[in-house]
Amino acid sequence: MSQALSEFDLIARYFDVPALKGSEDNPFISLSIGDDCALLQPTPHHQLAVSVDTLVSGIHFPVNVPPKLLAWRSLAVSVSDLAAMGATPRGFTLALTLPEANSDWLASFASGLAEAAQHYGVVLFGGDTTKGPLAISVQVFGEVPSGLALRRDGANIGDAVFVSGELGGAHVALDYLADEANQDPLVDQLLQAYYKPDAAIALGQALRGVASAAVDISDGLLADLGHIASRSGLSITVHSHLIPVHPAVSALCNKDRALAAATKGGDDYQLAFCVPESKIPDLLALPFNLTRIGTCKSGAGVLLDDQHILSGGFQHFEV
Ligand code: ADP
Ligand code: MG
Repeated sequence: MSQALSEFDLIARYFDVPALKGSEDNPFISLSIGDDCALLQPTPHHQLAVSVDTLVSGIHFPVNVPPKLLAWRSLAVSVSDLAAMGATPRGFTLALTLPEANSDWLASFASGLAEAAQHYGVVLFGGDTTKGPLAISVQVFGEVPSGLALRRDGANIGDAVFVSGELGGAHVALDYLADEANQDPLVDQLLQAYYKPDAAIALGQALRGVASAAVDISDGLLADLGHIASRSGLSITVHSHLIPVHPAVSALCNKDRALAAATKGGDDYQLAFCVPESKIPDLLALPFNLTRIGTCKSGAGVLLDDQHILSGGFQHFEV
């Protein structure tokens, strides 16, 4: 059902609502939706962490994706960047490009967004609404005590390399996105991993002062570790037998495909990070599912079982 809604009616009905804006006495937000800018009031002695991600229909998600899940995924992938920096999520803006103002679609999208926003402790404080091919940009804002952010350039030779959770699920889910009738519970686990990646917010914050460098796995484990290696000026060696493969991936794929999904597949949104040996006892006392997969060494690039990885994860403009 499609209805003629003005841009302002649309914002008022679906986005300028308490379920998304949160309470009026949020100390971080002095002015929310409705003016030319929002006004933010960062906590003293904290740095503002800001990141934006865009999801385009047909490229980052299938054309007929359920809007509720699309909303959840749009927010989760952006919040994951805050997790990777060790930041505490505070709020977000939404730039929404829609082919039409379909009220059923919008109601479902807004309800999924409110659910995800509550899950991650963020509120919506602004955005932009335009007409065009479906695309969603979410810009997230978080805070981190000054100097404690987890950057990509802090790893040192000798640091251990860890990863959180289990890998490969979201990548193998791509095979099943069009297969709506599939009732296999293993497939359902993969679709959950794809649509509802659990951004590692609590882990990121717990790693402040423990990890020397961190990245979230959006383009594939080896490709993302490559960012730490190049920014920190060292090499990272990873052992394939240590990589935690998602159990549904191990069950549904042969060994080679499972390892490829876990090392090169994107979209997992777990954290990969480096820790000095002296901090490993602190790390292992934390209540998270973490696996040591490798070590930082001198040199450059990422090696899997002593083989240099030339190109790995997803690149939009790869030729
Ligand atoms: P301007 O033209 O000055 O950029 P807009 O007319 O685009 O302002 O938006 C009006 C108000 O509604 C602004 O405060 C803007 O942040 C907010 N807004 C617009 N679209 C959205 C959206 N999709 N979600 C949340 N807030 C939005
Ligand atoms: Mg505008």
